Amino acid sequence: MLNIILGGAPGSGKGTISELISKEYGLEHLSTGDVLRAEIKSGSALGQEIGDLISKGNLVPDAKMIDLLEHFLDGLAPDCKGVIFDGFPRTLQQAKALTEMLARRNMDAVMMDLFAEEQVIIDRLINRGKKSGRADDNLETIKKRLSVYHAETQPVSAYYVGEHKYFYINSNINPDYTFAQIQTIVKLLN
Ligand code: ADP
Repeated sequence: MLNIILGGAPGSGKGTISELISKEYGLEHLSTGDVLRAEIKSGSALGQEIGDLISKGNLVPDAKMIDLLEHFLDGLAPDCKGVIFDGFPRTLQQAKALTEMLARRNMDAVMMDLFAEEQVIIDRLINRGKKSGRADDNLETIKKRLSVYHAETQPVSAYYVGEHKYFYINSNINPDYTFAQIQTIVKLLN
């Protein structure tokens, strides 16, 4: 199995690159942001709660996210070739929980961490907001999301460095260049 955790700030290219990876290697793509947005769209009480958090640039509580992951992993087909985790883990607690959840299923994962300059990220997200209409792609919320990323999510990178499961990816240039780096690493892992 090839299980890849795609790290990186909002706007670093996780969604775009996940699509390319999942096509090339036939992996399941779990985007926690997409799952949460579907819950919001359903109009459930939980969706409303989540919608308030996301539109302000805050994270959804760890316990809810870990439950969501447990549920997702339970639903994987036995012949699944692997998973791209896009948007999870976003905190150290989520990272440790993921290690345990995977170990219980005889699985593990490596992190590929996408890096782009802050101004590149802001430009990408503002542009995306014009097309997607996402409630959190406005300058004020983007800045909040970036500060949450630095405070809560960056420690996750150090965690995977410590686990010797960490790869740095330059995501400043374009999707092809980003994807080429990932293909090289996947070859080396096999
Ligand atoms: P981006 O990477 O552009 O911020 P996502 O679609 O991955 O977009 O996430 C959108 C929002 O969904 C996040 O800002 C956060 O509020 C929520 N979210 C997604 N994944 C998680 C997670 N693992 N833990 C907590 N909140 C999450």
